[in-house]
Amino acid sequence: MYQGQLRQAEVKREVILAAGSLESPKLLLLSGIGAENELKKHNIPLKLSLPGVGENFHDHVTVSSHFVLKSDVEEPVCNLCRVALFAKSDPSMPVSDLEYLMMVTTQHDETEQEAKALTIHVSIQVPVSRGWVKLASNDPLADPLIHPNLLGEKADRDRLIAAIQKARQLVKTEPLAGIIERELIPGQKYPTDEALDTFIREQAQSQWHICGSCKMGIDDMAVVNPELIVRGLNNVRVVDSSIMPSVVTGHAQSSIFAIAEKAADLIMANLYQLQNS
Ligand SMILES: Cc1cc2nc3c(=O)[nH]c(=O)nc-3n(C[C@H](O)[C@H](O)[C@H](O)COP(=O)(O)OP(=O)(O)OC[C@H]3O[C@@H](n4cnc5c(N)ncnc54)[C@H](O)[C@@H]3O)c2cc1C
Repeated sequence: MYQGQLRQAEVKREVILAAGSLESPKLLLLSGIGAENELKKHNIPLKLSLPGVGENFHDHVTVSSHFVLKSDVEEPVCNLCRVALFAKSDPSMPVSDLEYLMMVTTQHDETEQEAKALTIHVSIQVPVSRGWVKLASNDPLADPLIHPNLLGEKADRDRLIAAIQKARQLVKTEPLAGIIERELIPGQKYPTDEALDTFIREQAQSQWHICGSCKMGIDDMAVVNPELIVRGLNNVRVVDSSIMPSVVTGHAQSSIFAIAEKAADLIMANLYQLQNS
């Protein structure tokens, strides 16, 4: 629809779908590409059976600890994540699976007084939990249904608990120990791992690096092949965060630029081949 009118566009070579991890699977599903039973629910005729469309949806999950600073600590001259620490939750991990971002923030303490705090956001960089994106209806303007399932797997919750405990240890070492007055959040209410599990369920959130809902691969649940072409078609490519089989460690944007650069090369190579055949 454009300005209230239904328009039709024809494509000579290929369609590039780059609507992001929520809208790309939604547009494929609306086009009849997906799991047959899901399409049936919305009276959408099946064009291509691809059960992976909308599955494998995931994200970095993050939770924050806040530590009140001593009153004589000077305001930093700059803020917002000047420090990023990547660490392993367990030495056997092949890559750093935790990220710590630190910044100075204003929090409210137990008496509702404003307090300057060192905030440590911890996030899981290699999550194992997977959610999904599905259609709510066959109305193209309707938002999709989203099940982030960020804490679905106990392994992810355990790693967040370990990460908060490590943050507690970190602020007890110098030079941080010298500027911290006390822990505010999670605080005394959540001393044990069991209590921290509750804290995580209450507080954890998306780090806004959603991906994976049209994953690249060669298995049955893959949506696009390694050339980013929708499996079973020859002229529709998906080029966005949805093709990541697993989210990258680190923030997603630069990797998505790399995906786009690679896709541009693949598209040009295809064009060159067509022109020379
Ligand atoms: C609040 C926030 C903060 C973030 N901060 C960072 C950060 O600091 N560093 C970092 O690396 N990453 C950050 N990210 C993540 C990063 O922005 C995303 O990973 C990245 O933009 C995803 O790229 P994409 O191409 O998959 O989707 P998008 O960037 O979402 O692009 C999809 C585009 O498709 C358009 N679109 C969707 N549906 C349709 C439709 N039906 N018709 C036409 N157009 C459509 C959308 O308007 C959008 O422009 C942040 C994300 C959020 C939400």
